[in-house]
Amino acid sequence: MPALPPITDLSRARILVTNDDGINAPGLRALERVARSLSRDVWTVAPETQQSAVSHALTIRRPLRLVRMGPRRFAVEGTPTDCVLIGVHEVMQGRAPDLVLSGVNWGANLGEDITYSGTVAAAMEGALLGLRAVAFSLDIRNGVPRWETVVRHAPIILGRLVGAPWPAETLVNVNVPNLAPDKVQGIRVVAQGRRKEALAIDRRTDPDGRPYYWMLDYGKEARQPEGTDLGAIAEGAITITPLTIDFTQRRFLATLRERFR
Ligand code: MN
Repeated sequence: MPALPPITDLSRARILVTNDDGINAPGLRALERVARSLSRDVWTVAPETQQSAVSHALTIRRPLRLVRMGPRRFAVEGTPTDCVLIGVHEVMQGRAPDLVLSGVNWGANLGEDITYSGTVAAAMEGALLGLRAVAFSLDIRNGVPRWETVVRHAPIILGRLVGAPWPAETLVNVNVPNLAPDKVQGIRVVAQGRRKEALAIDRRTDPDGRPYYWMLDYGKEARQPEGTDLGAIAEGAITITPLTIDFTQRRFLATLRERFR
């Protein structure tokens, strides 16, 4: 697939908005506001229910219903990936979107979060379809969500992103710190980081005495290396990380080729 040429004028762009928190999520409304501030050709196709941590799941064994919620606004009883596919192939048939936006997710998608994230996976699906795709997440860990910070900064970020030639099979992951708009410590282009601690599971007991398990969130993070998403957001910066769909470990590929020769 060839690279996509830069977009100089987003006002003529067709934009598809989706998320993983569902059609009624406040973050989706924030991203729709961002999209509408850029273009009048904005379409929303989002999951009917909360789909966080479903990653790139695709629904293949039950019917997928499309529900019209309003003008150019639809819900799908499925995953974020289902929404992008139905959005592009069914709802927006005739003209594919120039830009797929996913989010704004309730909670950051940093480091290894990317492998669980439905928000990032929706952008991944956009990239697989040969489209420009950007995922937005707000790092809400405490306090009220600062959606207004995304609404303020995202249009500028998007304008700069789409002005670059966009490589094939590429999505961009943006994380916004939960600070007031003018408290943000700049915008940094950084690599995907990796937490030092693992996800923990809490074993609990239900009222009948039977055990059940609860996935715990990450605790307070150790200092993260500079140049990573985890490091930059800890310093209050907005992070921009380009991702690609090719998971191949090139160095090990070479090693294994030698071993299997
Ligand atoms: Mn989510």
